[in-house]
Amino acid sequence: MKTLVINCGSSSLKYQLIDMNTENSLVQGLVERIGIEGSILTQKVEGKDKYVIEVNMHNHKDAIKLVLEALVNKEHGVIKSMEEISAVGHRVVHGGEKYSHSVIIDEEVIESIRDCISLAPLHNPPNIIGIEACKELMPNTPMVAVFDTAFHQTMPKEAYICPLPYELYENYGIRKYGFHGTSHMYVSQKVAKVMGKDIKDLKIVTCHLGNGCSLAAVKGGKSIDTSMGFTPLAGVMMGTRAGSIDPSVISFLVEEQGYTMSDIDELLNKKSGILGISGVSSDFRDVLSESEKGNERAKLALDIFHYKVRAQIAAYAGIMGGVDVIVFTAGIGENSIVTRKESLRGLEFLGFRIDDEKNDVRGKIQEISTEDSKVKVYLIPTNEELMIARDTVKLVKNN
Ligand code: ADP
Repeated sequence: MKTLVINCGSSSLKYQLIDMNTENSLVQGLVERIGIEGSILTQKVEGKDKYVIEVNMHNHKDAIKLVLEALVNKEHGVIKSMEEISAVGHRVVHGGEKYSHSVIIDEEVIESIRDCISLAPLHNPPNIIGIEACKELMPNTPMVAVFDTAFHQTMPKEAYICPLPYELYENYGIRKYGFHGTSHMYVSQKVAKVMGKDIKDLKIVTCHLGNGCSLAAVKGGKSIDTSMGFTPLAGVMMGTRAGSIDPSVISFLVEEQGYTMSDIDELLNKKSGILGISGVSSDFRDVLSESEKGNERAKLALDIFHYKVRAQIAAYAGIMGGVDVIVFTAGIGENSIVTRKESLRGLEFLGFRIDDEKNDVRGKIQEISTEDSKVKVYLIPTNEELMIARDTVKLVKNN
């Protein structure tokens, strides 16, 4: 059974074709600059040359058409016909309060995703466009929506209600939703498996540190708190996002310094975080190398980043009444040796020590705490696409 996983951004589309009998990813592809001059599709298949198509794609339908062509391409593809794709799993960023699980996509589901547009104006519209384009091009293939917010729907009210007038929650749905749920779920389940433990018996802090960063407190397999909030802007500092700050900074900038709300939006989402502090880049690699060369602002950006992550890990260990395992994942979590060490510095009182030799690793499953540590620390590469494909197969089979 081959499942196509689609993740549509505003001008990009990531895809994978996964053979669910073996759970092997057969193809990984990326379409960039959809609707912009210079659209490009890049597809990777193990054992074959990289396949690149540069042709203008006006919209997501054009892009998906090209993806399907690339998949069946005689020389560069992996399937003979589209009929071999038995289901499509779509990543959808916001499912609001309605979806605590993945669902088979029908008209009602599309409408509900549309209803959540005001909560995720940048993300849900391209997700819907991707779903509709697939529906048109592959009308008989079942499709499933997997929501970034779903895993966090188990949070208790004390974690998700904002301390604002309660009517704002009732009238506008203002609350913490949390994001990266598919990743937090995948790595928490995976680490339990690797440790040979039942997830029901574990208190886990998962640290998803990529361009966007969030942490989650996962107790007994359920998310009980997470650092992102009403939108993916809240929580720890990120590549270009500020994370949580005193909201009065906004009224100060608007009223005293003449900023508009759209300036503020741009400032908090695109110009802050690692980029804003370092003045170098939002890419962690650039900032690490500048810091090594003695750039003080780059070093400060890293110090703040590690401090925020450290404080969040400690908070989650606190609310769970302890922690059994801390997991690092995503681009920075999987690759930055310094980040894993520095984010945990001073937290050894929780019951672990880091083994520097074991921590000297990138992108593979690895325990990085010493053998005698009571609390374990792991690097677990995330695999949101596999999680989406698993949910897709499960739902399609039971339908
Ligand atoms: P996204 O949230 O877009 O999926 P990723 O999970 O791919 O992002 O993470 C991207 C981040 O990971 C970037 O800041 C990048 O610099 C960082 N990263 C990738 N490789 C390394 C590395 N070898 N060392 C440090 N950081 C890395």
